[in-house]
Amino acid sequence: MAVYEEPIGPPGVRIRERPKTEAAPGTVAVAIRAASLNHLDLWLAHGAQRVTPPRVIAADGAGVVQSSGDPAWRPGDEVVLFPTLCCWECEWCRAGQNVRCARFGILGEHSDGTACELIHIDARNVFHKPSALSWSEAAAFPLTFLTAWRMLTTRAQLRPDETVLVVGAGAGVAVAAISIAKHLGARVLATSRSESKRQRALALGAEAVFDSSDFSKPVRQATGDGVDVVFEHVGPATLEESMRSLAMGGRIVTCGSTSGVKAEIAMPRLFFRQAGLLGSTMGNAGEFEAVLKAIDGGLKPVVDSVYPLSDVKDALKRLDDAEQFGKVVLSVSDG
Ligand SMILES: [Zn+2]
Repeated sequence: MAVYEEPIGPPGVRIRERPKTEAAPGTVAVAIRAASLNHLDLWLAHGAQRVTPPRVIAADGAGVVQSSGDPAWRPGDEVVLFPTLCCWECEWCRAGQNVRCARFGILGEHSDGTACELIHIDARNVFHKPSALSWSEAAAFPLTFLTAWRMLTTRAQLRPDETVLVVGAGAGVAVAAISIAKHLGARVLATSRSESKRQRALALGAEAVFDSSDFSKPVRQATGDGVDVVFEHVGPATLEESMRSLAMGGRIVTCGSTSGVKAEIAMPRLFFRQAGLLGSTMGNAGEFEAVLKAIDGGLKPVVDSVYPLSDVKDALKRLDDAEQFGKVVLSVSDG
């Protein structure tokens, strides 16, 4: 397993061994085949998440049921994991609003994560692996697709006749957003600082791409009035340009702020242009099921690279260097 032990960046995540155990009632023991990294793992490694080590990292995982304390699952079943934690019992959970649960959290931050040979997890977090996906792909989609799906559908209410601008293409969640917005039938534009990532975004279905600085002018030129939805996760470095890119009545939907926690916005732009500024984080089990259905309908994640678990430091470094386009996957076991 890959364990965060010291807040010193990627070198503070080390490979450790623990004895294997059987599933307790209501839980499933899943032999992980592949896991994938998120920016969260990097923050954790840098000590920015107030998590007390040791902690097994990673939220995303796919694998094979080894033993089950729930009759719904049998040894040998191929599964993916719903990457968030909740109580499953409170009023919000029972209403399908897991994101509002007081115990809402994330695998690999609020509990040990998926970068391990064997994980014990609540049976309600276990779903059938989409048969069309490889193990790497199955480990690549859960958190980013869940997050981007909720942002674009539940929160921004993106319609097929609308245009969405995905800022900072390259990050896993942004790449997921391009694929999902295309899948929903919307017109997609994207920005990136990197020419090679702009080319990858075009290949993935973006209609036009722009540099991540001063993109609002060319975006408005390309669209007439601006875009209906801006998909944000960068924050202060791009928010002003994102606001300027919005059409009348447009919405900014954001799930993160990788460039800093405080941003300034021009208030008149918000109210005179009837704009919406929407926050979103992760998603509900029902939204995860909708993602699985969309994957059966052809939606696919993008795997940037695959590292053996033993090279987890190199995998984290790739994220730290912001070199990736799509997901950085850890191959845990060949079965
Ligand atoms: Zn709950």
